[in-house]
Amino acid sequence: MSSRTFDCLVPVPEKAVFSDGNFLISGLHAVSFPREADTAFAFLKSFCHVLKISLSESAPEVAGLIFQTDPSAKPEAWQLNISPEKIIVSASGRNGFLYAAGALAQMLTAGMSRGRGKTAYLDCCHAEDAPRFPWRGFMLDSARHFQSAGTVRKLLHLLAAFRINSFHWHLSDNQAWRWETNRVPGLAGKGEIEDGFYTRDELRGIAALSARLGIRIVPEIDVPGHSRRVLSMRPDLACDSAQPGNEFCLGNPESAVFIKGLLAELMEIFPDSPVIHLGGDEAAAAHWEKCPRCQAVLKERNLQTFRQLENEFMNDLNRFVLSKGRTPMMWGTCSGQKYDPGTIMQAWLDIREPLRLAENGNKVVYSVHNSLYFDYPADLSEPHENWMFALPEQGVHMTEPYMVWPDQVKDAILGTEACLWTESVPEWRVVQKILPRLFAYSECAWSLPERKEYNDFVRRRKGLESAGYTGILLQMEN
Ligand SMILES: [Zn+2]
Repeated sequence: MSSRTFDCLVPVPEKAVFSDGNFLISGLHAVSFPREADTAFAFLKSFCHVLKISLSESAPEVAGLIFQTDPSAKPEAWQLNISPEKIIVSASGRNGFLYAAGALAQMLTAGMSRGRGKTAYLDCCHAEDAPRFPWRGFMLDSARHFQSAGTVRKLLHLLAAFRINSFHWHLSDNQAWRWETNRVPGLAGKGEIEDGFYTRDELRGIAALSARLGIRIVPEIDVPGHSRRVLSMRPDLACDSAQPGNEFCLGNPESAVFIKGLLAELMEIFPDSPVIHLGGDEAAAAHWEKCPRCQAVLKERNLQTFRQLENEFMNDLNRFVLSKGRTPMMWGTCSGQKYDPGTIMQAWLDIREPLRLAENGNKVVYSVHNSLYFDYPADLSEPHENWMFALPEQGVHMTEPYMVWPDQVKDAILGTEACLWTESVPEWRVVQKILPRLFAYSECAWSLPERKEYNDFVRRRKGLESAGYTGILLQMEN
């Protein structure tokens, strides 16, 4: 790696300027930090352990690295000053400190790869950075294939290193129900593809870890479709109890009562999750059209279509989530319904979907499948389903949620979310599916578009990888 150590960063920072001199990495051992930087210190200590550098906490007067709080800094923003004598990191809180530590870890990787032991150094510099979007998400489907709690914890550490701050957890689908619920004994665990579930203790432990890493968990119950597993245990809540299928009966008042009970339990397991995902995608109307109860309710409420009935059903659930002080979130639907403006909508169908959703007054998270579905192969030599597109690193890097939309649409976009569906992705392939595309996604989610340049990005990403950065992240003890 030939360029300056601050010229290796992914995602590319808002600003990084050279200043005279070098900082000898051997001077790094003593670190001073406030309580909000404890995760940043733990990350850096573990990273440096792989590099055979030992870090310990010290008083600021003797520290080579000082984390200091700057209450005036923007949320998640950070500054880094490297002078020949010391390194000073400033940020307003947990995430900014952690992301600055991540940038420093990348510079250390670059510095250690070109130096020799005690002569290894960092180039002095001043760097400033802040996120483009407040929502930088990643979705994991744990319903099709199952990942152990240990794998999820490792993944959260990896995501934090790439500045992901939202972990959307797809915990139920047709094939399985993955969280332990007291309401339906035996529901969790059995799966069409494989068995497995998370105990309440595991879920609470993951929630606590996630909070330390500055990542909000967005747990999902996917209804009224994608519900074959739960309806196999409660066929009385389907339109036809002899053949329950995938959709809840919208004409049975017990359906909403039952789902609200599950939502209340999920919110109790995840007390710090501000957003609860209700799914809402790909429900077929065929069962409803043939069901006397659904037909009767349609008539009674003077509605024209079963999609309107579905709309009312979901809005009732959305209002329930809002009444508990949380924000509901849903997938954009294939059938064009409008939901209450308080609902965050996730655009996944096509590049025009954010426009439609923003015109309805909803906030939007951008997950359009041919840009951000990581189950798609990076190139077509990789095993994949025949309906999938190739999604190379460049496709991820060039993703632009703002497109050519008017300001009203841009204002509605909260950020981005990459999704890993796991119909064909077993647990051991999860990391292989997301790396190295996570580098490109991190830059797409974090950096200003005018700072992004693809060839330069490839140079930085390859430089870090060849210096061992990814290997270090995967070797770290968390
Ligand atoms: Zn029905």
